[in-house]
Amino acid sequence: MENQLTPTEPIKLAIQKSGRLHDSSMQLLKECGIEVSNGNNQLRIQSSNFPLEIFFLRDDDITEYVQDAVADIGFVGENVVKEKCKEVETIEKLGFGKCRLSIAVPKNGSLKSLLDLNNKKIATSYPVILADYLEKQNISAAIHEISGSVEIAPRIGLADAICDLVSSGSTLFTNELKEMETVLVSEAVLISSRGLSSGKQGILDRLLFRIRAVKKAKNNKYVLLNAPNDKIDSICGLLPGIKSPTILPLAEKGWSSIHSVINEADFWNVIEQLKANGAVGILIIPIEKMIV
Ligand code: ATP
Ligand code: ZN
Repeated sequence: MENQLTPTEPIKLAIQKSGRLHDSSMQLLKECGIEVSNGNNQLRIQSSNFPLEIFFLRDDDITEYVQDAVADIGFVGENVVKEKCKEVETIEKLGFGKCRLSIAVPKNGSLKSLLDLNNKKIATSYPVILADYLEKQNISAAIHEISGSVEIAPRIGLADAICDLVSSGSTLFTNELKEMETVLVSEAVLISSRGLSSGKQGILDRLLFRIRAVKKAKNNKYVLLNAPNDKIDSICGLLPGIKSPTILPLAEKGWSSIHSVINEADFWNVIEQLKANGAVGILIIPIEKMIV
């Protein structure tokens, strides 16, 4: 009988060889407890403690490799998944590589709104996504496809506007451009080939379990605080925790220590309310993994 924990064939994961997604992809695997040697200049490497083999590729090629089942799964930007239109399944958002695909125009130019783009020329590396967007907005503009340095197109007279990836906006700023419309919001996602074998599906499920535990831990913090016993109820109302908060008596009579988990998004609000409800000695501790 096949041992589920040590299948002979590893799952093949495609990640970006170098670039903005590389380090975060490797970091996520590390946080999932998956050990890989530093594969400098290697095309593929195998993990020493998990049935996984990594292929290092250009991000543009990842969806095609996964579609063709040369790789079983991949980490790649949603922007690439939408642009390439390959037959792959998007399984999970990964929480890194966050950016947006935006239309930007010269800062002090005459283009003020989307309507002004009618009959104008827009340079982009994302012709498919842009064409789809313009059609939905009923704008008729010429799309000029270029593969890199899109941000210089207006300055050299190649186009009136651009449609490009933005995160901080500093590249636009340096090039005297301003964002006009967000076309797509994107982050890195885990994609999968259709029709994985049951052995590989099993490995993917184990990987997903770990990825979700890592993501959840990042979104939550462990909180410990002290409170007088008569405030326990109101404080617990603010701290639902995973199941319910843990309450332990302190050596000092009439006081307790309360432990719970709070969501990063509500963090400062909850802390203010805890203080207002008599909590003291509040400690906030990062969580490494979270399995609920
Ligand atoms: P490759 O050599 O693999 O083709 P690339 O130059 O096409 O690399 P990068 O610039 O490394 O790609 O970007 C990879 C991905 O990182 C993008 O597709 C996008 O999903 C994400 N990303 C996040 N923020 C940004 C940003 N500000 N600009 C560009 N991409 C970003
Ligand atoms: Zn690329």
